[in-house]
Amino acid sequence: MRPSPRAADHLIERASVPRERRLAAFGPPGLIRRAQSLGCEDRAGTGVATPPMEGHRVPEAATRRRTVPLPQGSIELAWAALTDVGRRREVNQDAVFAEYPLFVVADGMGGHIGGEIASSSTVNRLEAIVGSGSVTPKTIEKALAKAVKDIASHPEATDDGTGTTVTGVFLELTGDEPHWVSLNIGDSRVYLLRDDTLVQITTDHSVVQELVAAGRLSPEEAEHHPYGNVITRAVGPSDSVRPDYIRLDVLDGDRFVVCSDGLTKELTDYGIQHFLREHEDPADAAAAMMDAALENGGRDNVTVIVLNVTRTD
Ligand code: CA
Repeated sequence: MRPSPRAADHLIERASVPRERRLAAFGPPGLIRRAQSLGCEDRAGTGVATPPMEGHRVPEAATRRRTVPLPQGSIELAWAALTDVGRRREVNQDAVFAEYPLFVVADGMGGHIGGEIASSSTVNRLEAIVGSGSVTPKTIEKALAKAVKDIASHPEATDDGTGTTVTGVFLELTGDEPHWVSLNIGDSRVYLLRDDTLVQITTDHSVVQELVAAGRLSPEEAEHHPYGNVITRAVGPSDSVRPDYIRLDVLDGDRFVVCSDGLTKELTDYGIQHFLREHEDPADAAAAMMDAALENGGRDNVTVIVLNVTRTD
């Protein structure tokens, strides 16, 4: 099954990424995606492959906190962010920015240093609007348009295939009621654990997601589809920079996970939910997910933000 010629003009192939599964569905249960191709041994019989980790320092996470006063009550946020090159790549093309009120991941793609330029330009432009105190869809889209110019200003390292995902959430305080707003371009993801149920908030902009949504491909077929690493939208010279937005209520006890596909290649949704339940503290939860992703192969750059929400009246 091939995408239409029109769509194909805008496909972004992650050429250096092994063609692997990208679509995480609920089930079959199992915390960790098996890294069968790596020849890893399941030493403990747990279903978790545990290759040796020598020489790889796992980064340390620290939980940060912020209290947001409301006319009535307050919102308390606690979060931690981690990014790591993984165990197969030489450079980390992911970038992460987690500062109130914006929590985002960018997963760059493109040859040479193009991917790094794309993701770092994007988070730097978003960081600037946080610094200016106005995070809205309008300021985000202006920032992304500037990032596209930044990317194009490195012609020696970038081309039409250079771009980045950008995915995350921000807290919006403009109306009567505060809201979370998710934003997404590409196939990084926002998950929300609410009422002990994990839901993927964002919809991937990928060929397999479009085929699954159209009923033309089952989730099982999608896992091995030859277009498994092809995304249909990115922040880059040949794309629009308008993300998809979804507005959510702010509820006590909500827990967000924002991550690049390097995490969801190695960890099932069930695994993400498991590590959130096991670790209340955001830094502990992020570190546990990072460790699991690296232990299972770390085939791509891995980035994860965990954000806990406490709301008091
Ligand atoms: Ca990636």
